Amino acid sequence: MHSSLARFFIDKAASDFEPAGMYTHATDAGWISRTHRAIAPFRLQQPTTPSEVVQALIESEDSSIIAGGIDLVRRMRSGNSQDTLIDLSAVSGLREIEDHAGFIRIGALATHWDVETSPLLAARLPAFQAAWKTIGNVRIRMTGTVGGNLMAAERAYDGPVLLGVSGAKLVFLTDGGEVKIAASDGAGSYPSRALLTAIEIPVMPNAQLGFDRTLKPVVSVAVGLVDQDVSVGVGCAHISPFFWSGKVSEVEAALASALPEPIDNPMGSAAYRRRMVTVLARRLIRHLHEGDAS
Ligand SMILES: Cc1cc2nc3c(=O)[nH]c(=O)nc-3n(C[C@H](O)[C@H](O)[C@H](O)COP(=O)(O)OP(=O)(O)OC[C@H]3O[C@@H](n4cnc5c(N)ncnc54)[C@H](O)[C@@H]3O)c2cc1C
Repeated sequence: MHSSLARFFIDKAASDFEPAGMYTHATDAGWISRTHRAIAPFRLQQPTTPSEVVQALIESEDSSIIAGGIDLVRRMRSGNSQDTLIDLSAVSGLREIEDHAGFIRIGALATHWDVETSPLLAARLPAFQAAWKTIGNVRIRMTGTVGGNLMAAERAYDGPVLLGVSGAKLVFLTDGGEVKIAASDGAGSYPSRALLTAIEIPVMPNAQLGFDRTLKPVVSVAVGLVDQDVSVGVGCAHISPFFWSGKVSEVEAALASALPEPIDNPMGSAAYRRRMVTVLARRLIRHLHEGDAS
Protein backbone atom coordinates (compact mmCIF):
# COMPACT_ATOMS: atom_id res chain seq x y z
CA MET A 1 0.00 0.00 0.00
CA HIS A 2 3.03 2.29 0.37
CA SER A 3 4.24 4.33 -2.54
CA SER A 4 7.93 3.72 -3.09
CA LEU A 5 8.83 7.31 -2.15
CA ALA A 6 6.87 7.29 1.09
CA ARG A 7 8.16 3.78 1.83
CA PHE A 8 11.77 4.91 1.43
CA PHE A 9 11.19 7.92 3.62
CA ILE A 10 9.50 5.90 6.33
CA ASP A 11 12.02 3.04 6.19
CA LYS A 12 14.80 5.55 6.62
CA ALA A 13 13.16 6.92 9.73
CA ALA A 14 12.33 3.48 11.07
CA SER A 15 15.81 2.08 10.50
CA ASP A 16 17.38 4.74 12.69
CA PHE A 17 15.23 4.20 15.77
CA GLU A 18 13.41 1.53 17.73
CA PRO A 19 10.14 0.26 16.23
CA ALA A 20 7.77 1.58 18.89
CA GLY A 21 4.99 2.73 16.55
CA MET A 22 6.40 6.24 16.60
CA TYR A 23 9.90 7.14 15.50
CA THR A 24 12.13 10.15 15.51
CA HIS A 25 14.29 10.69 12.49
CA ALA A 26 17.64 12.45 12.92
CA THR A 27 19.06 13.55 9.60
CA ASP A 28 22.71 13.55 8.62
CA ALA A 29 22.15 15.08 5.19
CA GLY A 30 24.38 12.44 3.65
CA TRP A 31 21.54 10.94 1.61
CA ILE A 32 20.08 14.24 0.46
CA SER A 33 21.15 16.10 -2.66
CA ARG A 34 23.32 19.15 -2.01
CA THR A 35 20.71 21.28 -3.70
CA HIS A 36 18.27 20.41 -0.94
CA ARG A 37 18.39 21.06 2.76
CA ALA A 38 18.52 18.19 5.21
CA ILE A 39 15.07 17.17 6.31
CA ALA A 40 14.54 18.33 9.86
CA PRO A 41 13.87 15.68 12.53
CA PHE A 42 10.25 14.57 12.81
CA ARG A 43 8.13 12.03 14.62
CA LEU A 44 6.30 9.40 12.62
CA GLN A 45 2.91 8.05 13.53
CA GLN A 46 1.30 5.10 11.81
CA PRO A 47 -2.36 4.97 12.79
CA THR A 48 -4.52 2.11 11.56
CA THR A 49 -7.97 3.72 11.46
CA PRO A 50 -9.32 7.02 10.06
CA SER A 51 -10.37 8.11 13.58
CA GLU A 52 -6.81 7.62 14.84
CA VAL A 53 -5.57 9.80 11.98
CA VAL A 54 -7.93 12.61 13.00
CA GLN A 55 -6.95 12.16 16.65
CA ALA A 56 -3.27 12.48 15.71
CA LEU A 57 -4.03 15.64 13.69
CA ILE A 58 -5.84 17.18 16.65
CA GLU A 59 -3.13 16.24 19.16
CA SER A 60 -0.37 18.02 17.26
CA GLU A 61 -1.02 21.31 15.45
CA ASP A 62 2.33 20.89 13.72
CA SER A 63 1.54 17.54 12.13
CA SER A 64 0.89 16.60 8.52
CA ILE A 65 -0.55 13.61 6.77
CA ILE A 66 1.77 11.84 4.36
CA ALA A 67 0.30 9.78 1.51
CA GLY A 68 2.54 9.30 -1.55
CA GLY A 69 4.88 11.94 -0.14
CA ILE A 70 5.64 13.71 -3.44
CA ASP A 71 4.59 17.20 -2.36
CA LEU A 72 5.26 16.82 1.31
CA VAL A 73 8.84 15.54 0.92
CA ARG A 74 9.57 18.27 -1.62
CA ARG A 75 8.35 20.90 0.85
CA MET A 76 10.39 19.38 3.69
CA ARG A 77 13.47 19.32 1.50
CA SER A 78 12.89 23.01 0.90
CA GLY A 79 13.08 23.65 4.63
CA ASN A 80 9.47 23.18 5.75
CA SER A 81 9.75 21.31 9.05
CA GLN A 82 7.05 19.15 10.61
CA ASP A 83 6.93 17.96 14.17
CA THR A 84 4.92 14.85 13.25
CA LEU A 85 4.12 12.98 10.05
CA ILE A 86 1.00 10.84 10.02
CA ASP A 87 1.51 8.02 7.57
CA LEU A 88 -1.69 6.70 6.00
CA SER A 89 -0.34 3.44 4.66
CA ALA A 90 -1.57 1.26 7.52
CA VAL A 91 -5.11 2.66 7.37
CA SER A 92 -7.36 0.27 5.49
CA GLY A 93 -10.35 1.24 3.38
CA LEU A 94 -8.88 4.41 1.89
CA ARG A 95 -7.77 3.09 -1.50
CA GLU A 96 -10.81 1.33 -2.95
CA ILE A 97 -12.71 2.49 -6.04
CA GLU A 98 -16.35 1.44 -5.59
CA ASP A 99 -19.66 1.60 -7.39
CA HIS A 100 -22.47 3.08 -5.29
CA ALA A 101 -26.01 3.95 -6.30
CA GLY A 102 -25.58 6.97 -8.57
CA PHE A 103 -21.93 7.69 -7.84
CA ILE A 104 -18.44 6.24 -7.87
CA ARG A 105 -16.44 6.49 -4.67
CA ILE A 106 -12.68 6.83 -5.03
CA GLY A 107 -10.67 6.37 -1.84
CA ALA A 108 -8.34 9.30 -1.14
CA LEU A 109 -5.34 6.96 -1.06
CA ALA A 110 -6.01 5.63 -4.58
CA THR A 111 -3.03 6.47 -6.76
CA HIS A 112 -3.37 8.14 -10.14
CA TRP A 113 -2.42 4.72 -11.52
CA ASP A 114 -5.33 3.08 -9.68
CA VAL A 115 -7.65 5.60 -11.36
CA GLU A 116 -6.04 5.08 -14.75
CA THR A 117 -6.34 1.28 -14.61
CA SER A 118 -9.70 0.89 -12.86
CA PRO A 119 -12.10 -1.27 -14.94
CA LEU A 120 -14.98 0.28 -13.00
CA LEU A 121 -14.02 3.81 -14.05
CA ALA A 122 -13.42 2.62 -17.62
CA ALA A 123 -16.99 1.36 -17.69
CA ARG A 124 -18.78 4.08 -15.71
CA LEU A 125 -16.74 7.29 -16.07
CA PRO A 126 -14.53 6.78 -19.14
CA ALA A 127 -14.07 10.49 -19.94
CA PHE A 128 -13.04 11.21 -16.35
CA GLN A 129 -10.56 8.34 -16.45
CA ALA A 130 -9.12 9.51 -19.79
CA ALA A 131 -8.64 13.04 -18.45
CA TRP A 132 -7.04 11.82 -15.20
CA LYS A 133 -4.57 9.73 -17.23
CA THR A 134 -2.94 12.95 -18.46
CA ILE A 135 -1.67 13.80 -14.98
CA GLY A 136 2.11 13.76 -14.58
CA ASN A 137 4.37 11.01 -15.84
CA VAL A 138 4.15 7.33 -15.05
CA ARG A 139 6.37 7.61 -11.95
CA ILE A 140 4.17 10.33 -10.51
CA ARG A 141 1.02 8.39 -11.37
CA MET A 142 2.32 5.25 -9.64
CA THR A 143 3.16 7.17 -6.44
CA GLY A 144 0.92 10.20 -6.16
CA THR A 145 -2.54 9.86 -4.70
CA VAL A 146 -5.82 11.48 -5.60
CA GLY A 147 -6.12 12.85 -2.06
CA GLY A 148 -2.59 14.27 -2.11
CA ASN A 149 -3.27 15.99 -5.42
CA LEU A 150 -6.32 17.75 -3.97
CA MET A 151 -4.95 18.52 -0.53
CA ALA A 152 -1.69 19.94 -1.87
CA ALA A 153 -3.90 22.83 -3.10
CA GLU A 154 -1.52 23.78 -5.90
CA ARG A 155 -3.07 26.03 -8.53
CA ALA A 156 -1.57 24.14 -11.47
CA TYR A 157 -2.84 20.71 -10.39
CA ASP A 158 -5.54 19.17 -12.53
CA GLY A 159 -7.43 17.15 -9.92
CA PRO A 160 -9.42 20.02 -8.38
CA VAL A 161 -10.52 21.34 -11.79
CA LEU A 162 -11.57 17.92 -13.13
CA LEU A 163 -13.45 16.99 -9.98
CA GLY A 164 -15.06 20.43 -9.70
CA VAL A 165 -16.70 20.27 -13.12
CA SER A 166 -17.68 16.63 -12.54
CA GLY A 167 -19.89 17.66 -9.61
CA ALA A 168 -17.76 15.62 -7.20
CA LYS A 169 -18.05 15.76 -3.43
CA LEU A 170 -15.04 15.47 -1.14
CA VAL A 171 -15.63 13.40 1.99
CA PHE A 172 -13.68 14.45 5.07
CA LEU A 173 -13.49 12.92 8.51
CA THR A 174 -13.21 15.61 11.19
CA ASP A 175 -13.28 15.33 14.97
CA GLY A 176 -16.96 16.30 14.69
CA GLY A 177 -17.79 13.52 12.20
CA GLU A 178 -18.07 13.26 8.43
CA VAL A 179 -18.27 16.42 6.31
CA LYS A 180 -18.96 16.57 2.56
CA ILE A 181 -17.78 19.54 0.48
CA ALA A 182 -18.41 20.22 -3.20
CA ALA A 183 -15.09 20.00 -5.03
CA SER A 184 -15.98 23.23 -6.83
CA ASP A 185 -16.06 25.08 -3.47
CA GLY A 186 -12.26 24.95 -3.55
CA ALA A 187 -9.50 24.40 -1.02
CA GLY A 188 -10.57 27.42 1.05
CA SER A 189 -13.62 25.48 2.21
CA TYR A 190 -11.81 22.29 3.27
CA PRO A 191 -12.20 21.64 7.01
CA SER A 192 -8.97 22.05 8.99
CA ARG A 193 -7.25 19.19 10.81
CA ALA A 194 -9.30 16.68 8.79
CA LEU A 195 -8.64 13.51 6.83
CA LEU A 196 -9.91 13.39 3.26
CA THR A 197 -11.26 9.86 3.05
CA ALA A 198 -12.88 9.71 -0.39
CA ILE A 199 -14.21 11.49 -3.44
CA GLU A 200 -17.73 10.80 -4.72
CA ILE A 201 -18.34 11.44 -8.41
CA PRO A 202 -21.93 11.35 -9.68
CA VAL A 203 -22.67 9.10 -12.64
CA MET A 204 -25.23 10.60 -15.01
CA PRO A 205 -25.95 9.00 -18.37
CA ASN A 206 -26.04 12.34 -20.22
CA ALA A 207 -23.04 13.97 -18.50
CA GLN A 208 -19.98 14.75 -20.61
CA LEU A 209 -16.50 15.91 -19.63
CA GLY A 210 -13.83 17.66 -21.68
CA PHE A 211 -10.36 18.82 -20.62
CA ASP A 212 -7.75 20.94 -22.38
CA ARG A 213 -4.33 21.28 -20.76
CA THR A 214 -2.40 22.13 -23.90
CA LEU A 215 -1.64 25.65 -22.62
CA LYS A 216 -0.41 24.59 -19.16
CA PRO A 217 1.07 26.10 -17.10
CA VAL A 218 -0.51 29.28 -18.47
CA VAL A 219 -4.09 28.06 -18.31
CA SER A 220 -6.08 24.81 -18.28
CA VAL A 221 -9.81 24.44 -18.81
CA ALA A 222 -12.21 21.61 -17.97
CA VAL A 223 -15.84 21.53 -19.03
CA GLY A 224 -18.68 19.44 -17.61
CA LEU A 225 -21.77 19.34 -19.75
CA VAL A 226 -25.24 18.03 -18.95
CA ASP A 227 -27.48 18.87 -21.91
CA GLN A 228 -27.42 22.71 -22.05
CA ASP A 229 -26.02 23.16 -18.52
CA VAL A 230 -22.30 23.70 -18.41
CA SER A 231 -19.66 23.92 -15.66
CA VAL A 232 -16.32 25.42 -16.52
CA GLY A 233 -13.24 24.94 -14.33
CA VAL A 234 -10.19 27.10 -14.90
CA GLY A 235 -6.78 26.01 -13.61
CA CYS A 236 -3.38 27.76 -13.49
CA ALA A 237 -4.77 31.21 -14.30
CA HIS A 238 -5.49 32.33 -10.73
CA ILE A 239 -4.18 31.62 -7.25
CA SER A 240 -6.76 28.85 -6.97
CA PRO A 241 -9.09 27.20 -9.52
CA PHE A 242 -12.07 29.22 -10.68
CA PHE A 243 -15.47 27.66 -11.41
CA TRP A 244 -18.39 29.03 -13.35
CA SER A 245 -21.65 27.36 -14.29
CA GLY A 246 -24.54 28.43 -16.47
CA LYS A 247 -26.13 27.75 -19.82
CA VAL A 248 -24.09 26.89 -22.91
CA SER A 249 -25.50 29.96 -24.66
CA GLU A 250 -24.08 32.21 -21.90
CA VAL A 251 -20.47 31.02 -22.06
CA GLU A 252 -19.15 33.70 -24.37
CA ALA A 253 -20.36 36.72 -22.42
CA ALA A 254 -21.14 35.58 -18.88
CA LEU A 255 -18.02 33.46 -18.31
CA ALA A 256 -15.74 36.23 -19.53
CA SER A 257 -17.34 38.82 -17.27
CA ALA A 258 -17.41 36.51 -14.22
CA LEU A 259 -13.75 35.56 -14.57
CA PRO A 260 -11.60 37.30 -11.93
CA GLU A 261 -8.51 39.10 -13.17
CA PRO A 262 -6.04 36.34 -14.13
CA ILE A 263 -2.36 36.23 -13.17
CA ASP A 264 -0.22 38.49 -15.31
CA ASN A 265 3.41 37.34 -15.66
CA PRO A 266 6.06 36.82 -18.32
CA MET A 267 4.61 33.40 -19.15
CA GLY A 268 1.31 34.93 -20.19
CA SER A 269 -0.47 38.23 -19.80
CA ALA A 270 -3.76 38.48 -17.93
CA ALA A 271 -5.47 39.47 -21.18
CA TYR A 272 -4.12 36.39 -22.96
CA ARG A 273 -5.21 34.09 -20.16
CA ARG A 274 -8.64 35.71 -20.07
CA ARG A 275 -9.07 35.26 -23.83
CA MET A 276 -7.86 31.66 -23.80
CA VAL A 277 -10.30 30.62 -21.08
CA THR A 278 -13.23 31.51 -23.32
CA VAL A 279 -11.63 30.10 -26.47
CA LEU A 280 -10.82 26.75 -24.84
CA ALA A 281 -14.19 26.48 -23.09
CA ARG A 282 -16.09 27.20 -26.30
CA ARG A 283 -13.97 24.74 -28.26
CA LEU A 284 -14.44 21.98 -25.68
CA ILE A 285 -18.20 22.49 -25.71
CA ARG A 286 -18.26 22.31 -29.50
CA HIS A 287 -16.21 19.10 -29.47
CA LEU A 288 -18.48 17.56 -26.86
CA HIS A 289 -21.55 18.44 -28.90
CA GLU A 290 -19.88 16.87 -31.91
CA GLY A 291 -19.13 13.76 -29.85
CA ASP A 292 -15.37 14.33 -29.61
CA ALA A 293 -14.24 14.76 -26.01
CA SER A 294 -10.51 15.01 -26.76
C1 LIG B 1 7.18 15.86 -12.02
C2 LIG B 1 5.76 16.05 -11.55
C3 LIG B 1 4.75 16.20 -12.47
C4 LIG B 1 3.42 16.39 -12.05
N1 LIG B 1 2.45 16.57 -13.00
C5 LIG B 1 1.19 16.80 -12.58
C6 LIG B 1 0.15 17.05 -13.54
O1 LIG B 1 0.37 17.05 -14.76
N2 LIG B 1 -1.10 17.29 -13.07
C7 LIG B 1 -1.38 17.28 -11.73
O2 LIG B 1 -2.53 17.49 -11.36
N3 LIG B 1 -0.43 17.04 -10.82
C8 LIG B 1 0.83 16.81 -11.20
N4 LIG B 1 1.81 16.58 -10.27
C9 LIG B 1 1.44 16.59 -8.85
C10 LIG B 1 1.09 15.20 -8.32
O3 LIG B 1 -0.13 14.76 -8.88
C11 LIG B 1 0.97 15.32 -6.82
O4 LIG B 1 2.25 15.66 -6.36
C12 LIG B 1 0.53 14.06 -6.12
O5 LIG B 1 -0.75 13.67 -6.53
C13 LIG B 1 0.50 14.30 -4.62
O6 LIG B 1 0.06 13.13 -4.01
P1 LIG B 1 0.85 12.51 -2.78
O7 LIG B 1 0.07 11.32 -2.36
O8 LIG B 1 2.28 12.29 -3.10
O9 LIG B 1 0.70 13.70 -1.72
P2 LIG B 1 1.57 13.99 -0.40
O10 LIG B 1 2.82 14.67 -0.78
O11 LIG B 1 1.67 12.79 0.45
O12 LIG B 1 0.58 15.03 0.29
C14 LIG B 1 0.34 16.29 -0.29
C15 LIG B 1 -0.43 17.16 0.69
O13 LIG B 1 -1.73 16.63 0.90
C16 LIG B 1 -1.93 16.27 2.28
N5 LIG B 1 -2.70 15.02 2.23
C17 LIG B 1 -2.41 13.92 1.48
N6 LIG B 1 -3.39 13.01 1.58
C18 LIG B 1 -4.32 13.54 2.43
C19 LIG B 1 -5.58 13.08 2.91
N7 LIG B 1 -6.10 11.89 2.55
N8 LIG B 1 -6.29 13.87 3.75
C20 LIG B 1 -5.79 15.09 4.12
N9 LIG B 1 -4.61 15.59 3.68
C21 LIG B 1 -3.88 14.81 2.84
C22 LIG B 1 -0.53 16.16 2.88
O14 LIG B 1 -0.53 16.46 4.25
C23 LIG B 1 0.21 17.23 2.08
O15 LIG B 1 -0.03 18.50 2.61
C24 LIG B 1 3.13 16.40 -10.65
C25 LIG B 1 4.15 16.23 -9.72
C26 LIG B 1 5.45 16.06 -10.15
C27 LIG B 1 6.54 15.90 -9.11
